[in-house]
Amino acid sequence: MAISRILIANRGEIALRIHRAAHEMGIETVAVHSTADAEAMHVRLADHAVCIGPPSATESYLNTAAIIAAAEITGADAIHPGYGFLSENAQFAEIVEAHGLAWIGPKPEHIRTMGDKVEAKRTAGALGLPLVPGSAGAVETVEEAARVAEEIGYPVLVKAASGGGGRGMKVVPGPDMLESLIRQAKNEAKSAFGDDTVYLEKYLGNPRHIEFQVFGDGKGNAIHLGERDCSLQRRHQKVLEEAPSPILSEEDRSRMGGIVAKAMADMGYRGAGTIEFLWENGEFYFIEMNTRLQVEHPVTEAITGVDLVREQIRVAEGKPLSVTQDEITFTGHAIECRINAEDPFTFAPSPGKVTAYHAAGGMHVRVDSGLYAGYSIPPYYDSMIAKLIVYGRTREGCIMRLRRALEEMVIEGVKTNIPLHNALLHEDDVLSGNYSIKWLEDWLARRD
Ligand code: ADP
Repeated sequence: MAISRILIANRGEIALRIHRAAHEMGIETVAVHSTADAEAMHVRLADHAVCIGPPSATESYLNTAAIIAAAEITGADAIHPGYGFLSENAQFAEIVEAHGLAWIGPKPEHIRTMGDKVEAKRTAGALGLPLVPGSAGAVETVEEAARVAEEIGYPVLVKAASGGGGRGMKVVPGPDMLESLIRQAKNEAKSAFGDDTVYLEKYLGNPRHIEFQVFGDGKGNAIHLGERDCSLQRRHQKVLEEAPSPILSEEDRSRMGGIVAKAMADMGYRGAGTIEFLWENGEFYFIEMNTRLQVEHPVTEAITGVDLVREQIRVAEGKPLSVTQDEITFTGHAIECRINAEDPFTFAPSPGKVTAYHAAGGMHVRVDSGLYAGYSIPPYYDSMIAKLIVYGRTREGCIMRLRRALEEMVIEGVKTNIPLHNALLHEDDVLSGNYSIKWLEDWLARRD
């Protein structure tokens, strides 16, 4: 089915990103927005716009009924959910399809399976992906947990089956703390997700976060587009991402890539997905799968030349993948800086009016952002206001260009974390690629 008008059920830079891909394909766009976003760039650029509610996301960007109504009123024939909000809500995907609209995302049953981490791990294991050692499924009793922990060895990690954003996760150093930390994790999970199911995993001491981009046509064909290294994190939030990973060999890439692509083909996966691993001492350990486009997808686009949103739209139209695995080549290096409206070192949010704005430019520099001079960053949503993505033929060249591009970015009126990125790009460990998921937190602690 050819898509002619896409409703974009999101806001900010990703709404703009989707609008751009759509217009390049000759497809019209419908923006839906809260009252706080009436002046947003994607709303101004979209062909049609519908206000769907007040600032609170629950009443607007998560308001299923209002979004479906907006699609019907504007005659949209497809919905793209972006990331966050309703993107990994299987029930919403089903509702969209039940209304005869194309869902630009994975099959609802796959969203559901991967959204439950116990189910996701079971599925990943059955598909042949290497897992973090841990309980076979949910742990029901403290005795059972103690037995599993003894077997895999302390420290262990208690994780919530419905977890996200690092919530409901507890590191257990030894047996005497097990019972109380399980109770705490369950309480946290219950109040955050309404589900107190927990499971146990070996706690890895100093891993890297390496994720693979996958893509399926929903009919048994799937490819991988290499990995992204997202080890620079603060409180489990990614700050800077790069592709390829500085530590992965070509052999490792094609071996792991082959495994994940085959897993997706076997599953009949449709659309874009990301399979997240921890990597330590040469071994990969599956942690979760995200059944959506990721924030950091542009670094993959930069080194492969594949437009992932265009590909998502094509697959939703029932078309085959536009590239075969053999046609995918990885050239050069790309790094993304997430630019947030926040204090660069205390991380306190800094919403407000942008008084001056100038985006970096020049060769191999991409800025994905809805900012403009005079725009007011609303306080209600995520603090990410721009992504700066830079490409270079080598990692060194990429870093030099990224420093130059950061110098050119002008965002006045609010505080941003540009000074943090600048400082990071002058650190020896970042320059050499020698960092793990603990590195940034340790570095920030040393600065205090
Ligand atoms: P969430 O969905 O809450 O983000 P993830 O399973 O993706 O949870 O894990 C988030 C982060 O927590 C990882 O990127 C990593 O930094 C850390 N983490 C998760 N599992 C482990 C583990 N077994 N050992 C050490 N760190 C872990």
